[in-house]
Amino acid sequence: MVPGRVSKVLVSGASIAGPALAHGLARAGTDVTVVERAPELREGGHNIDVRGAGREVLRRMGLEQQVLEHTTGEEGTRFLDERGRVLGSFPASTSQTGGPTAEVEVLRGRLSRLLVDSCAGLPGSVDWRFGEQVAEVRDGAEHGDDGGVDVTFASGAQERFDVVVVAEGLRSRTRQRVFGGDRSSHVRELGAYCAYLTVPRESGDDRYWTWQVLGRGRSAHLRPDDEGTTRGLLTFLADVPGLDELEPQAAALVVQRLYAGTGPIGERLAAALDTEPFYFEALGQAVLPRWSRGRVVLAGDAAHCASPVSGMSTTLALVGAHVLAGELMRPGATLPAALQAYERTLRPLVDAAQKLPPGTPRIGNPRTTAEIRVLGALVGAASSRAVQRLRLGERLISPPADAVDLPSYPHLAEPVR
Ligand SMILES: Cc1cc2nc3c(=O)[nH]c(=O)nc-3n(C[C@H](O)[C@H](O)[C@H](O)COP(=O)(O)OP(=O)(O)OC[C@H]3O[C@@H](n4cnc5c(N)ncnc54)[C@H](O)[C@@H]3O)c2cc1C
Repeated sequence: MVPGRVSKVLVSGASIAGPALAHGLARAGTDVTVVERAPELREGGHNIDVRGAGREVLRRMGLEQQVLEHTTGEEGTRFLDERGRVLGSFPASTSQTGGPTAEVEVLRGRLSRLLVDSCAGLPGSVDWRFGEQVAEVRDGAEHGDDGGVDVTFASGAQERFDVVVVAEGLRSRTRQRVFGGDRSSHVRELGAYCAYLTVPRESGDDRYWTWQVLGRGRSAHLRPDDEGTTRGLLTFLADVPGLDELEPQAAALVVQRLYAGTGPIGERLAAALDTEPFYFEALGQAVLPRWSRGRVVLAGDAAHCASPVSGMSTTLALVGAHVLAGELMRPGATLPAALQAYERTLRPLVDAAQKLPPGTPRIGNPRTTAEIRVLGALVGAASSRAVQRLRLGERLISPPADAVDLPSYPHLAEPVR
């Protein structure tokens, strides 16, 4: 490695943060290797929001237009009670930050694919290795040899990198290896689970996000996509840890028992767990006092997951990747200075995004009839015409997507092709 210069980087994880970072680094001429545990790009997942500064980052990456061409067309959010009666509804936001349905709603897998494709033809190279993962990390700085980080991969291959970026999501294994602890260390558990799946579109499915509260801490969601199918989501409160570690068949059985007798939406989605692949996770937030150790640095959810209920994790992943690439490649910057600047710039946005509205996720998944009534009163008031004219509901529900002073990084400017 050239002292002070980052020219060879390993990124672990190819979802949102990993490819966004690879794009920035390769744009500035760095050679990047991306390893992803899955055998191919994971294109599953639901409508995710890109808000405020995240949208500015897409603009800087030259991707805003492409993403806007692939939005899901969700027109708003409608809350139903356990009997299917409408509690209130919110049209999609016209601002870049506000409301439950953001102006830019795109399928997670589509955004991931666009980011990966955007890495082709840049000045630096990006080497994608699927079905591969880090088995061992030895940071030279901790062994009196500051030549870089030696990585042994699961395949047995060994290689040295200037910097290793861990973008493996909330329960990252490489983070455990480097920062210690187990899969729940550095995670603030939210006491809720989500099962995400895609189901055939039915005639009654419309362009709204339907959010039905079912009591006993359960909710069921239907969301439109732009692929002719419907995205389904089952969310429930549970303090029992580790359900997300069950084999898919066992997890499906647990969810099906929980949603038995809940009515058409909950039962339709629960039944589909037998036939459709699903992604099942325990909700949490990543909380770490530092995002780097020596030459290993965390990015995206591995560093600062705010949870899907924040509507901010993807925005944070995009902004964080841009800032990390910008600081690492800043002409003349040393690695410690770059890593400090990364944290200093991003922390205010992360801190604001991780402050969930009071009562979240309980309030959206009420347990008792009384709690359903409270939610109904809140949603009804916030979605009333008079209040919507003031855009008060939007302001109340809006995540703080602009709480960052995004530096300009001319060295990441679009290259002439
Ligand atoms: C399949 C999938 C579906 C999702 N669906 C939704 C959704 O519907 N709604 C929502 O709000 N959020 C969803 N998320 C989470 C969302 O993508 C993130 O919250 C956010 O975009 C930040 O992304 P990230 O790249 O930091 O982390 P993640 O999106 O969590 O991606 C981490 C990546 O690292 C890979 N990985 C994990 N461990 C290793 C390892 N040891 N070695 C190499 N690679 C590893 C994973 O396979 C994954 O591709 C989903 C994530 C995935 C992976």
